[in-house]
Amino acid sequence: MAKPIAVVAETKDGTVRKIAFEMLGEAKRLAAQAGGAPVAAVLIGAAGAGEADRLAQHGADRVVHVTGDALARYAPEAYAEAVKQAVAAIGPDALLFGATAQGRDLSPRAAARLGTGLASDCVGFEWKDGGLIARRPIFAGKAFGTVAFGATRPQIASVRPNTFPVPEPDASRKASVETIALGDVTVRARVTAVEASEGEMADLTEANVIVSGGRAMGGPENFEILRKLCSVLGATLGASRAAVDAGWIDHSYQVGQTGKVVNPTLYFAIGISGAIQHLAGMSTSRVVVAINKDKDAPIFKVASYGIVGDLYQIVPALTEEFAKALKE
Ligand code: FAD
Repeated sequence: MAKPIAVVAETKDGTVRKIAFEMLGEAKRLAAQAGGAPVAAVLIGAAGAGEADRLAQHGADRVVHVTGDALARYAPEAYAEAVKQAVAAIGPDALLFGATAQGRDLSPRAAARLGTGLASDCVGFEWKDGGLIARRPIFAGKAFGTVAFGATRPQIASVRPNTFPVPEPDASRKASVETIALGDVTVRARVTAVEASEGEMADLTEANVIVSGGRAMGGPENFEILRKLCSVLGATLGASRAAVDAGWIDHSYQVGQTGKVVNPTLYFAIGISGAIQHLAGMSTSRVVVAINKDKDAPIFKVASYGIVGDLYQIVPALTEEFAKALKE
């Protein structure tokens, strides 16, 4: 029988994050290509009572839950050791992590500990000739590279959030669940506190709709018109580096090469010129709407819809029309 394909199911406050379900759907598809391999999920640290069931309902045949005091909050060394122990129990051919802030930190550590390779921030996979083939953006999103793995196993990849659809949960699916107690580990760095950012907005890396503002916002007070659009659309606010460097908005909102890499269904680039470093963070968005008063701004080259004009007239008008349309 083909060896398992495993997914590291990241949690937030004990709840499995959406990216885990996206990866389970993809793991299931790859498992079929691999000749009917089982799909396993790895849970680390505190997880709510029904979380293993939710993993099963989204495609996991087996759930390995690593527990221990050192895993109460994200601690890179303890989590990497937990992954190592789960891999020893499961023996997977491939192991997927979300390319989230935590997954980006954990996946290379786990790969190093397991003496194997890593394809990071992948947006497509195939199973071919007994191995994983990964597709990933390169040169700041200007091209895609296709990556195959050497002989070492497991083949490890991190997966860009919002790339794969969440499969319909099947309430009748069950998984075998086992718990591994993490032994003593030396932890040199651990997270001591987490400060949530403002409001009810979804995390940028997981957001389905993003409204980003650039230098044209001119000051922190003008972001209010973007926040209004966000609240009508249920969108998350983002920004270009120019706006962040000007001190108008916190760096946690920055989209781009030195900010967050996002992959929403709908991305609004408002008063953003479209520098390559900004595109590096958002060019895989499914639909891009650009609003810019310069018709030659490079952002229009990647935009699905372009509006040439003054954002201060266009954004309030759009917000009003969206509010009306969504009420109907
Ligand atoms: P600008 O380039 O100044 O564009 C402002 C746009 O607003 C213009 O196109 C203008 O026509 C338009 N505009 C002005 N007024 C209005 C109006 N009233 N209505 C409508 N449109 C209007 N940038 C990032 O964003 N993210 C990164 O992660 C990032 N990382 C970087 C890393 C490195 C190593 C370097 C060197 C640069 C990086 N940058 C990054 C910076 C990047 O090169 C650009 O400088 C930056 O993206 C420009 O931001 P902007 O588009 O908001 O500003």
